[in-house]
Amino acid sequence: MGTCIRAWATPVFEQRMSMLEGGVGAVATASVHAAQFMVITNCCSPGQNFVSTSWLYGGTYNQFRVYMKKFNIDNTRAVYIETISNPKHSVPDIAAISAVAHKHGIPVIVDNTFGMGGYLSRPLVLGADIVTHSCTKRIGRHGTSMGGIVIDGGHFDWSTSGKFPGFTEPADGYHGMRFWETYGYKALSAKLRMDSMRDLGPCMSPFNAWLFLQGLETLALRGKRHCESTLALAEWFEAHPSVNWVLYPRLRWHSHYEHVKEVMPNGGGGVLTFGVLPDEEKIKGGVTPDLIRVSVGLEDFEDIKHDFEQAFVAVGLKPAVKLNGDPFNQAMSLFNDGFMKDLGTAAPKPVGN
Ligand SMILES: *Cc1c(COP(=O)(O)O)cnc(C)c1O
Repeated sequence: MGTCIRAWATPVFEQRMSMLEGGVGAVATASVHAAQFMVITNCCSPGQNFVSTSWLYGGTYNQFRVYMKKFNIDNTRAVYIETISNPKHSVPDIAAISAVAHKHGIPVIVDNTFGMGGYLSRPLVLGADIVTHSCTKRIGRHGTSMGGIVIDGGHFDWSTSGKFPGFTEPADGYHGMRFWETYGYKALSAKLRMDSMRDLGPCMSPFNAWLFLQGLETLALRGKRHCESTLALAEWFEAHPSVNWVLYPRLRWHSHYEHVKEVMPNGGGGVLTFGVLPDEEKIKGGVTPDLIRVSVGLEDFEDIKHDFEQAFVAVGLKPAVKLNGDPFNQAMSLFNDGFMKDLGTAAPKPVGN
């Protein structure tokens, strides 16, 4: 029962994350995969499905593609997206997707890990219903702890569509109590804690919650630095003779540039992808381009640049054959021609986390 009672640091952490994201409650978990699993199995029963995209964090893609299939989930009960998708860094229109989902009486779940705990993006404010978050990366930053969290937006009506009997019908594990009737708009966070956490047990350790609280103290400072350095690195790569292409949503020619400026005014995030290998001959010969993903740290930008310069020299990179024309579409066509066709069988090798 300790899993749902929680030591003191955990509720404080949950409350702060909930406030940062604009939710009504939160449930901290051992990892974000545990959080995703709990949310999705609360929305979908065997025989129902959720809609997502293949442009997902690799671990999530596999959880959905392989593990979730065991539950024979079919018949849509949720939509699942990420704030900034991998590796194109596309930024979905959360407001528009939510409007469509709500028309069909189903909730929208957003993995906001790249949204940095609300610093860059607040999906609940844009219309999404549930946010999940890996705390392991930008929330903690210190690398001492692992964890995830679910934040309940508190505006999804679990009753009118009639699609969620787990919320409206008497709960077996709670003497016939009905979660929607008892907890109203906090039904999801109540059910996650009382049902899933009690029965499955993937809780966050209170010590990790305490460490994540230390991380939150500097979230805004770090968020600013990550975004500034990543944009500077993207621009430096763009001009670098050994770099063939670079994708970052705050580069002017990225297809989502205007949308990103509007929905993420604080910056484009701390991750970019770039390629160094291909010349046209190699691509024609079927050699796939090398995609490198960088999660930019807090070091002084000159040090970051120096590290890359050293690495380029160490691997003996020659000047790349620069792409002519529209860089976004050129980079996309490299993806589409090559290994990005099937993420399941040929996932890119990320650098950093
Ligand atoms: C890292 C990451 C995850 C996995 O997080 P864990 O806490 O390690 O389970 C999921 N989604 C995104 C977008 C990530 O970056």
